[in-house]
Amino acid sequence: MSTGKIGVTSNDLFPIIKKFLYSDHDIFLREIVSNAVDATQKLKTLSSTGEFKGELGDLTVRVNVDKEAKTITISDKGIGMTQEEIEKYINQIAFSGAEEFLDKYKDQANAIIGHFGLGFYSSFMVSDKVDIVTLSHKEGAKAVKWSCEGNPEYTLEEVEKAERGTDIVMHISEEEKDFLEESRLQELLNKYCKFLPIEIAFGKKKEWKDGKEEQTDEDNVINDTNPAWTKKPADLKEEDYGDFYRQLYPMGEDPLFHIHLNVDYPFNLTGILYFPKIKNSVEIQKNKIQLYCNQVFVTDSVEGIVPEFLTLLHGVIDSPDIPLNVSRSYLQSDGNVKKISNHITKKVADSLMDIFKKDRTEFESKWDDLRMFVEYGMLTEEKFFDRAKKFFLIKNTEGKYFTLEEYEAIIKENQTDKDNNIINLYATDMDAQFSYVEAAKAKGYDVLLMDSQLDNHIINHLEQKETNKKYVRVDSDVVDKLIQKDEVKESKLSEEEKTDLIPVFNSQLPTEGVNYMVTFESLGEEAQPLMITQAEFMRRMKDMAAMNA
Ligand code: ADP
Ligand code: MG
Repeated sequence: MSTGKIGVTSNDLFPIIKKFLYSDHDIFLREIVSNAVDATQKLKTLSSTGEFKGELGDLTVRVNVDKEAKTITISDKGIGMTQEEIEKYINQIAFSGAEEFLDKYKDQANAIIGHFGLGFYSSFMVSDKVDIVTLSHKEGAKAVKWSCEGNPEYTLEEVEKAERGTDIVMHISEEEKDFLEESRLQELLNKYCKFLPIEIAFGKKKEWKDGKEEQTDEDNVINDTNPAWTKKPADLKEEDYGDFYRQLYPMGEDPLFHIHLNVDYPFNLTGILYFPKIKNSVEIQKNKIQLYCNQVFVTDSVEGIVPEFLTLLHGVIDSPDIPLNVSRSYLQSDGNVKKISNHITKKVADSLMDIFKKDRTEFESKWDDLRMFVEYGMLTEEKFFDRAKKFFLIKNTEGKYFTLEEYEAIIKENQTDKDNNIINLYATDMDAQFSYVEAAKAKGYDVLLMDSQLDNHIINHLEQKETNKKYVRVDSDVVDKLIQKDEVKESKLSEEEKTDLIPVFNSQLPTEGVNYMVTFESLGEEAQPLMITQAEFMRRMKDMAAMNA
């Protein structure tokens, strides 16, 4: 047996690893399992180049937990390590073997997960002691065991091991003993390893027999090695996308439609994004997108990584250019991540444009569900606004949909004010504003229905972007200037009735709405008894304040 010191400069490294390397202790499992997957992929590569001539055999990676011994063991049948390799790759922290391997086998290498050379040591976040028992694939190699108790000293000795590959044995510490619970491990494997490209077995499948749970001989494989997003769009049917959605969100309502991302230049990116149905902000669930790096789960908290409005989408993004990194702030400032995010924004806008162009009826039928998402994007991303204004639809009170351009064409003739501004009349509540809408229509004006939650903001935004257009609510006093005064119908109420009614209505109007007015004129074919109007300006101020509250 030999002993040695791990090749790092400071003795303080282990406490740092334990506390700060990953804020989330969970990820030790991801790191160790993905190393096992890497080692297996490397062997497959060597086999395909002819450098490894042996039988590949069963390459399943196995996760086993021994509650009595308090260990979790991850076993692979990958390339294994010789003693020299352990000294090089394990004892020199931050010297990543993956980088070196990738350099050498740039073209053939199957996707290799590791990048940073710190992954293995994350096992010490949860372990008092870690053993590596490994037999290299190289001919005549001797099996070795490396053992370390979370301090810079380690031992290395020759051992017996029949099968090629590596066992990582983690002796779980008292504080972290939760990880020894099967259900906890199952949950973590589901989270991090569900789509890894090599089969991962967690113990054996269980079966209910005569009211008892019994173990079978069959491996309990926890992952889908070939998830939909890794396939070519041409090889997938519509229902495959639906199936994959349910694989991701078993409880979710079916999405509106999907976008299959497939980019290989200037960066690599695959994924499938889904538009969920969003009816109102109460239902909004953010952070449903899962970010993967070569099929290894990185995070499902994509805020700051993709633009805010895209966090409303569901699905998967996978890019080897998204580093499996140690901190979120790094991810957020990473240049590749920025580019990826811009690309996705563009792609989402393009896909919506495609559907809009290809099948307007289909697009309109989904618009009410899509609208909030598109509005959110238009309000928060300049670039998205520029693309989306071509397919952004406004609906009139008759239920007809128009693009901004189409609408302008139909109202241009008769809905302008004296300065030639185009006046878009709109209602926000068909019940409350019914008589005003009727009156405007009777005059040949068209009235939009702007009743979605973000419409107030969208109206302000559109007015800023298109300065020759004004949006005026159908019951506001400005309408008087558009609709000629001489068409106004006098109320049939007597002067006495009017005098009596004013205080009754005034007492019911909200006090902060000082700009409400009770009048006895109306605009429709039929004279109405009375009308209440409010200044457009005051109303918007109030609505905005309420929204920001
Ligand atoms: P990375 O995966 O980023 O290279 P790690 O700290 O996770 O960094 O692992 C360091 C190195 O140790 C790997 O690059 C690899 O050479 C070696 N290694 C780790 N686990 C295994 C394993 N199961 N089989 C073979 N080699 C391994
Ligand atoms: Mg690694």
